[in-house]
Amino acid sequence: MTDVVVAGGGLAGAAAACLLARSGRRVLVLERESVAAHKVCGEFLNTAAQQYLHALGLDPAALGGHRIGALRLVRGARVAEVRLPSAGMGLSRFRLDEALLAHAAAAGAEVRRGHAITAVRVDPTAGDAEKQRMHPAIALDIAGLPSLRTATLFLATGKHDLRGLRRTPARAPEDLVGFKAHFRLAPEQARVLSGHVEIIMFPDGYAGLQPIEDGSANLCLLTSRRRLMRCGGRWESVLPDLLHDSPHLRRRLDGATSLMPRAAAIYRVPYGFVHAPSAVDAPGVFRLGDQVGVIPSFVGDGMSIALHSASVAVEHFLADLPAAAYHRRLRRDIAGRIRLASALYRFGRWPGGQAVLMGLAAAWPGGAAIAARLARLPPRGVSQATS
Ligand SMILES: Cc1cc2nc3c(=O)[nH]c(=O)nc-3n(C[C@H](O)[C@H](O)[C@H](O)COP(=O)(O)OP(=O)(O)OC[C@H]3O[C@@H](n4cnc5c(N)ncnc54)[C@H](O)[C@@H]3O)c2cc1C
Repeated sequence: MTDVVVAGGGLAGAAAACLLARSGRRVLVLERESVAAHKVCGEFLNTAAQQYLHALGLDPAALGGHRIGALRLVRGARVAEVRLPSAGMGLSRFRLDEALLAHAAAAGAEVRRGHAITAVRVDPTAGDAEKQRMHPAIALDIAGLPSLRTATLFLATGKHDLRGLRRTPARAPEDLVGFKAHFRLAPEQARVLSGHVEIIMFPDGYAGLQPIEDGSANLCLLTSRRRLMRCGGRWESVLPDLLHDSPHLRRRLDGATSLMPRAAAIYRVPYGFVHAPSAVDAPGVFRLGDQVGVIPSFVGDGMSIALHSASVAVEHFLADLPAAAYHRRLRRDIAGRIRLASALYRFGRWPGGQAVLMGLAAAWPGGAAIAARLARLPPRGVSQATS
């Protein structure tokens, strides 16, 4: 009999499993991918995320992470460069997620891969903890395994909603498509990019380009579905179309070799979503990572929020506090930052907004550093959750 079932072995799920196992709890992780997979992500680890990983005993630099000290904002031919208030790190999710999941297994978590949870049912008549010992309230249907029951579910399926526990974003997600692909850049372009993350703006979105481990570079971009349709629905045609719009990106990718057989893709991310605790929430369900809040990706804060949520959820669970108390705490920690990032994001999508942001970054480099500080997790949040 397990104490906690963790749905999803991404960053939030694996981090939570690791902490639970270390505290002597029996934990089962169900991850739908049977092997390491690429995820759509800019792969920028901010300071808070690095601190959480260190607290878990994982050193992103030892995994090959590339130190990133500066941000370049690019629009057309204009480039503004600002030092980051504290260094970030470029590391692929392919490597990081796999390392963290292996870390959780080494700590004692049972990890079952290649098994997707297909539905969740919560029994509202399950009653108190004593009754739940006999008949836990949460029933899970799992591909390739018999159904099972648990009193506590850590819901960490990221962007994917589970039938029976779907998120309810306050506004409909925008019609955006995200792509991610790895490249080996030509030596001169790799040299110029080294130590930098570049945000390259287009009329209908933006791309993030940065070095990751082993001398590779990650290109992650968001563009409109309209552009995708115009390009026949194919990434192979979207990239040349974007390169036509951006001489900067064209120069960076000139002579580059693609390292992935095909780009990873994602549709309609619900940026700005923050779970609002309510009386109808299932009592034993703790939402983690993107299931509790989705910050616009240009801030590079989604992974630290995922790790923070794991840490705080485990604290609450071990202290026998209800999921509702955890959700209220998380909302206090992240809602303000997600609101701020969402407002900036919408401003950047407004025609003319990009030009204003670009002008501000060029005229006042310190402003970008202040914005980055405002958007990241308060150090107090990190230290409390990891101590
Ligand atoms: C375009 C884009 C760029 C981004 N760039 C950055 C960045 O540079 N830096 C940053 O910090 N954040 C970034 N983010 C955000 C970051 O990727 C997420 O916030 C983070 O991955 C959330 O972690 P998670 O553990 O909640 O979910 P995930 O990492 O998505 O993990 C969820 C896991 O659950 C598994 N799963 C899904 N469904 C099921 C199921 N039914 N049963 C079992 N398992 C299941 C999945 O296979 C996966 O392994 C970006 C996001 C986007 C969209």
